[in-house]
Amino acid sequence: MGDILLTTPLIRAIRRRHPDAWITFITKAAFVPLLAGNPRLNEIVGHQPTTPLSALARRVRAGGFTHHLDLHDSLRSRALAALTARRWHRYPKHRFARAVLIRFKRDIYRDRRHVVERYFDAARELDVQPDEGPLEFFVPRTGLEQARRFLADQRLDPVATFVALVPGAAHATKRWPVGHWQRLAALLTAQGVQVVVVGGEAEQAACEDIATAAGDLATSAAGRFDLAGSAALLKLARCAVAGDTGPMHLATAVGTPVVALYGPTVRAFGFFPYRARATVLERDLPCRPCSSMGGPACPLGHHRCLVDLTPETVLDQVRRLPR
Ligand code: SF4
Repeated sequence: MGDILLTTPLIRAIRRRHPDAWITFITKAAFVPLLAGNPRLNEIVGHQPTTPLSALARRVRAGGFTHHLDLHDSLRSRALAALTARRWHRYPKHRFARAVLIRFKRDIYRDRRHVVERYFDAARELDVQPDEGPLEFFVPRTGLEQARRFLADQRLDPVATFVALVPGAAHATKRWPVGHWQRLAALLTAQGVQVVVVGGEAEQAACEDIATAAGDLATSAAGRFDLAGSAALLKLARCAVAGDTGPMHLATAVGTPVVALYGPTVRAFGFFPYRARATVLERDLPCRPCSSMGGPACPLGHHRCLVDLTPETVLDQVRRLPR
């Protein structure tokens, strides 16, 4: 999710520089809703994991595009590129610097740019520059209606009064402990702040535990919304607390201030919140970073990178965020 949202400043720049261009975005079908409302695109091609690359390559060839940008640079995107027999442009992924930083804790990155700005290297021939604007997600009206109905049902104020907690993350080492989320929710509600815990179906039990621990002013919305509804909830929140995850980027893309909790990953990778009202909390530990994506368990067993970020510290940052 995050990787797709991080391409939106480039899409915006291309549209502004080339207002009449036809722009097609190819991504997995599951991610199409992230861009479905983006007026800067002409077409989004969603493909299933089972879609043969040869069929996708035929589609690309038939499109007659003048420029081909590979903003993923994965094995699959490289295979697709090879099958299209077209010239594709890529961005610097800095795999070697990343590996050295993870393995030897030596920072040899020369390119300190955010990945959003590294993507622009793939579009050099299009004469585009970053405009210092944020990520974009266009919340559909249906999502806002869904979210407002939910808030009304829960007797929560509909605009910017509640704090959204987003505890989920695909990889365990990027997850702040559930006990910390529970304590943060309890601290917030003790001060009269309403809390909505946001997550997917897989996180439903944990989200409900967090909300239950915090009493009547907290509720869980996990598993109740599609992407549009979740984005709308985040947009309506006063601020969001999240880990280094796609939903954190989604919150920034809808303009909501964020407190972001970073554990095994670091700024040099280029994935901190981009041009957003955001505070990043992280611990300066010699074991960081230990991976670029997170993993199933802390290699050292203590998970101090996130355990040591206390709920009280996070609460303090929530209070300081601009509204
Ligand atoms: S505590 Fe250190 S080793 Fe463990 S997950 Fe965090 S960064 Fe990695």
